[in-house]
Amino acid sequence: MIQRGDRTFYKNPHSRKVRGFHLIMVSCGYCKTDFALYQKVGKGVLLRMYADRIIKSAVDLSSKPGALFCPICNKQLATRVTLKRKNKEAYIMIRGAFNYRTP
Ligand SMILES: [Zn+2]
Repeated sequence: MIQRGDRTFYKNPHSRKVRGFHLIMVSCGYCKTDFALYQKVGKGVLLRMYADRIIKSAVDLSSKPGALFCPICNKQLATRVTLKRKNKEAYIMIRGAFNYRTP
């Protein structure tokens, strides 16, 4: 049995504190499982998650997976890219595959 909202999260070892963020909980848009706690900066719509702003996640990020899949329904939620300009790792979120809210 899966208890929503009571999942085990992996702490992201690459997480760093950023300034002026607010916390959001990103969840799977298909099965609604909570997926990642994220430090969002700015008011815009979430299009990508910078890898170092993810505090904890339902999947283990320590090995820098190339894509993020929901651990419950296995749908793909995001693809990892390296942003050349900033030399940063980010996960580009797949449109319609996720929701987020203030935890
Ligand atoms: Zn799911």
